[in-house]
Amino acid sequence: MKEGCCYCGNVQIKFCESNVILALHCHCLDCQKYFGTKASVLTMPSKTLEIYGKTCSAEIIGGSGKKIIRHFCGECGTVIFNVPEFRPGYTNLMVSTLDDVSWVKFDFSIWTKSAPTWAKPSTDIVFPGAIPSEVLKTIPF
Ligand SMILES: [Zn+2]
Ligand SMILES: [Zn+2]
Repeated sequence: MKEGCCYCGNVQIKFCESNVILALHCHCLDCQKYFGTKASVLTMPSKTLEIYGKTCSAEIIGGSGKKIIRHFCGECGTVIFNVPEFRPGYTNLMVSTLDDVSWVKFDFSIWTKSAPTWAKPSTDIVFPGAIPSEVLKTIPF
């Protein structure tokens, strides 16, 4: 099991790494605004992520035009995970919540056309925009 928490520790998470189906960096402008340079997330079935403590939520409209619900700690503001309306049943956990991030292997980076020149993508595989449909088909959502 992998564990993690927000900055203040009021929200804790636990999951088994075998349930992670995707690890990616998102360089879209929304993520830059929210997280500084990019968002690093692990996608897993929502029911496999154990959450302890109360999260607050904020609704945003993603690049797809669909809603994304961001869940964060109401005490310290750390974003814990988000739930995209366009992918029911799956949760994107922020890698920054993990106690140990050394084991994470990122599959690819998306929206790299938005990345500033001083924040180059760190994966071999990069996509200038959203995940291409032929790649999406290979992910076991
Ligand atoms: Zn907190
Ligand atoms: Zn993004």
